[in-house]
Amino acid sequence: MNFKINIEKDIIDLIKIYNNYQFEVGGMIFGTKIFNKYVLKTLSLKKGESVSINFSMKDRIIYQLPEKQKIIGTWHLHPMQYKARPSITDLNQWKKWKKKYIHIICTKNDFKIFDSKGECLYEHNF
Ligand SMILES: [Zn+2]
Repeated sequence: MNFKINIEKDIIDLIKIYNNYQFEVGGMIFGTKIFNKYVLKTLSLKKGESVSINFSMKDRIIYQLPEKQKIIGTWHLHPMQYKARPSITDLNQWKKWKKKYIHIICTKNDFKIFDSKGECLYEHNF
């Protein structure tokens, strides 16, 4: 399938901020989707399950979503990985989301966007 992906600057800025975390965090991607054209506008933040670190209240960033944005996928960090690549767990989870969702995996060096089957749709090197 031919995807068109447009990433707004806020997304890159947020990824750079969230990328300072040394453990897996992630959340949802919000934006618009018309047919196969995705516009990524903002991210929500959720801490990983297997992490023993305390967040302060100010870390709990909650976005007031502008109208007409919807969830178009998920994102999470792979802080120990050099090149973004989905794990078996990721691929199994992605199968459970809507097929049309896209998924960002972000390492210290790059982030990639994958479709639900794990095919890379977009690559960005820092
Ligand atoms: Zn993962």
